[in-house]
Amino acid sequence: MPPETRRLDGRPVAAAVDEATRRRIAAAPPGTRPPTLASVHRGLPTPFGFYRRQQARAAAAAGIRFRDEPLPPDAGPAELAALLERLDADPSVHAVLLEHPLPPPFDFGTAIAHLRPDKDVDGVGAANLGALLDGRARHAPAVALAAVEIARHYRLPFEGEPVAVVGRSATVGLPLALLLAARPPGADATVTVAHSRTADLQGALARARTIFSCAGRPGLLRRAVVPEGAAIVDVGLSSVPDPDRPGGVRAVGDADGADLDGWADALTPVPGGVGPVTVAALMRSTVDAWERLEGVGREP
Ligand code: NAP
Repeated sequence: MPPETRRLDGRPVAAAVDEATRRRIAAAPPGTRPPTLASVHRGLPTPFGFYRRQQARAAAAAGIRFRDEPLPPDAGPAELAALLERLDADPSVHAVLLEHPLPPPFDFGTAIAHLRPDKDVDGVGAANLGALLDGRARHAPAVALAAVEIARHYRLPFEGEPVAVVGRSATVGLPLALLLAARPPGADATVTVAHSRTADLQGALARARTIFSCAGRPGLLRRAVVPEGAAIVDVGLSSVPDPDRPGGVRAVGDADGADLDGWADALTPVPGGVGPVTVAALMRSTVDAWERLEGVGREP
């Protein structure tokens, strides 16, 4: 049994990514338009609102302009399409993030298709997701990039190794599985993808040296299903009642940290693990888009 389960802090990983991002912005020739990220949302109290506040803070710290683009309360799919087309055509906007999931009558896939792949900064449009298959995506989902980044930073066993991804959504689990399985600069990993219909989760995870959990199911990962000595990158993020604050909530991941202590080799905490790295990865992707669209930096 491993003596102690290492907690893998995402903040130093995010700080290293942010530092490199700031250096790239500082290296642009004088007079270059500043990188600009637009956030399109319905302005309602959803988890996206929490991400948006974090993104606005991170953008300000990095030197990225953050443009808040709320939809009017009575707006429908046609207004959303018009707004995205306007942002796509606006040369002062380099990257656009669209709230998701969106409820009916909105259709996320139809809406995001109004953005060119360069501006679809979270890589969730069909063009970018499809291009992930052959390593030609302009952007990949920031959360998937972050999960790989944190695993690499802490040298978790995943490159060329058996790993598991729990979750198969088009925006988190599957893009992450593709990044992990890809040839370099992908991770050459041998990937098992598990989901809610997996008959034997313990059996599916048995060979994994690192488990990337993207289910959003608190307590899913326990000793009963995790092989001893495995590392866990916990991408799951759920709100549960906070026992210390009556009426309050707190964020938790998929892993039951108390149960896994002394069993798992390493675990990214929630909060403070994948989350901060995801925000940093989004800022880096914004600068990727800016360099391409402005013809500056390492990717003219
Ligand atoms: P989602 O669309 O709800 O997908 C969840 C996936 O988990 C589905 O594929 C589902 O299987 C699978 N699943 C559910 N219960 C399961 C179980 N008991 N056993 C095995 N698999 C199970 O969610 P998402 O958009 O992919 O997001 C996944 C998680 O990542 C959420 O908690 C979200 O909040 C979090 N997230 C975190 C960040 C961050 O920065 N940390 C960013 C984005 C998202 P089926 O396909 O069979 O339904």
